[in-house]
Amino acid sequence: MDVRVVDHPLVAHKLTVLRDVRTDSATFRRLTEELVTLLAYEATRDVRVVPTTVDTPLMPAPGVALKFPRPLVVPILRAGLGMLEGMTRLLPTAEVGFVGMVRDEVTLEASTYAERLPLSLAGRQCYVLDPMLATGGTLATAVKFLLSRGAEEITCICLIAAPEGIARMTELLDGLPIPCTLVLAGLDDKLNENGYIIPGLGDAGDRLYGVV
Ligand code: URA
Repeated sequence: MDVRVVDHPLVAHKLTVLRDVRTDSATFRRLTEELVTLLAYEATRDVRVVPTTVDTPLMPAPGVALKFPRPLVVPILRAGLGMLEGMTRLLPTAEVGFVGMVRDEVTLEASTYAERLPLSLAGRQCYVLDPMLATGGTLATAVKFLLSRGAEEITCICLIAAPEGIARMTELLDGLPIPCTLVLAGLDDKLNENGYIIPGLGDAGDRLYGVV
């Protein structure tokens, strides 16, 4: 897995405010969207395009258009939903699928409780959105799920990752027959005994949407 930590002062600044315990939900949601748009710029570096021409007021000019089938953006419910707007702002013609995954707070194992995806992902570049890469189980399960549907290339976009999560994902996805990239705003120190990223930002879903 190719891991890219985006090195940009605006990303670092927005991530700092996002971590702040005093940041309210409305600001947290807005910052998440802005951060994801910045990360999406890096994550879509290899998005597939085809040559085309466009008529300027003066003459035809060469250009590019997104290749079919369109990229598929897959937020992992619930917290990944907070990243969707920021992603589609940059890729407005992408299609969107959903995967609902929940982590057992005792075993920390991930399981799928809902999915709304095209039956075939043949030829697709997929962009998976999940803010916190903690133990790595959820994201690895999602990547394998997309692979089983025929995805050709998978890029995961996360705000923060723990080294343990990256190591576990690398182990679980060893031998993956397709390219897989991970794009991050920050790589933190470790996981605590409850599976939270340290220093992290707390529970991303709760900070986006409140405790339910
Ligand atoms: N999920 C979160 O929302 N935060 C963490 O720190 C770990 C998993």
